[in-house]
Amino acid sequence: MRRVKHLIFWLVVIGIILLLFSTHVIAENDFSRQRYALVNVIKAEIMTARGFLNQESLDERVLDTLLKVPRHEFVRDTERPHAYTNSPLPIGYGQTISQPFIVAIMTDLLQLKKTDRVLEVGTGSGYQAAILAELADSVYTIEIIEPLAKQAAENLKRTGYDAVHTRSGDGYYGWEEAAPFDGIVVTAVASHIPPPLIKQLKPGGRMIIPVGAQFMTQYLVLVTKDANEKVTTRQILPVSFVPLTGKH
Ligand code: SAM
Repeated sequence: MRRVKHLIFWLVVIGIILLLFSTHVIAENDFSRQRYALVNVIKAEIMTARGFLNQESLDERVLDTLLKVPRHEFVRDTERPHAYTNSPLPIGYGQTISQPFIVAIMTDLLQLKKTDRVLEVGTGSGYQAAILAELADSVYTIEIIEPLAKQAAENLKRTGYDAVHTRSGDGYYGWEEAAPFDGIVVTAVASHIPPPLIKQLKPGGRMIIPVGAQFMTQYLVLVTKDANEKVTTRQILPVSFVPLTGKH
């Protein structure tokens, strides 16, 4: 009788483990399907915005990273059901994880190579940093709100992107010890292009930054520095970002 009870006990334990495992697998498959659908939405939006972008599609490598990086791991539990809608979502402290369409465009415009060193200003949830980590050699990211920086570092570690260098501070001044950068992406709107960031951009490098003011017209601006250090800017498309804060 004791042996039967023992056997039943272990059968129940194994059953529970199998149930939990299969629920996890089903959920992951579902997230993967949702990422696929999201990428199709982004492709359609790129076509709609082609007049601004001067291109009708994005680099396949960028689309592949969107298929791979688990955005649901970078949002709060309550936002998980919406993780793969093409919209920004709240991440606390009045901040947002950016709209996937915008993340895709900003990443594409950097034209990253596997050997590149990239700086992100405005870590937020860590999602954009994870996307960059898939495409570049090293990623440095700065967040001005300390608890968000801490949460993003945890998100990146949990999802296997622990090689991303994170720091809390004012990204207006860049990350001097790690400069120069092949690419810089600023994910909060600035009234002007921060001179320290221009200085920390390599000759041949590209920076993408929203410029304007909160609740006013903002434009995504592509800044390029040529081999002779000549800096050129190009307005890409109107956007809406939270402000670049700090004492600068
Ligand atoms: N890239 C983020 C992601 O993937 O979740 C979204 C970034 S959110 C739109 C903009 C972030 O910039 C906010 O978290 C905000 O706190 C941060 N920020 C604003 N001003 C900053 C500054 N001067 N230096 C660093 N981060 C700043």
